[in-house]
Amino acid sequence: MEHKEDIIEYISIYCTDFYNELEKKAMRHYVAQVKFLPYKDRVEKMTVAYNRDSSNDPGVLKLLKDGIQEFHRNAAERVLNEHFCELTLNTCPKCGGIARTPTARQCRYCKHNWR
Ligand SMILES: [Zn+2]
Repeated sequence: MEHKEDIIEYISIYCTDFYNELEKKAMRHYVAQVKFLPYKDRVEKMTVAYNRDSSNDPGVLKLLKDGIQEFHRNAAERVLNEHFCELTLNTCPKCGGIARTPTARQCRYCKHNWR
């Protein structure tokens, strides 16, 4: 598969609906650590959000043990392998390359424009 790294990056940004329950839990746990934890016990809304999304699940912690980037790489690669046919990827009509975003209309590889 051509440009596999770019496809994986695209999936990790735009196709996280295909992440499984544990992977979604890991995403929420990560957000809880970086966004809610700094305000925990100071802002009530943040405390509630932290307590809701932070996780002690060993499976979640295992998924995140090598960092958020490695987590997304692994999860997106799994989605690519298991759900390729269901994914609606925005690809170039000319060369088939993956666009940068779901709404992009210009190819980053061959520069073809399809607006
Ligand atoms: Zn192209």
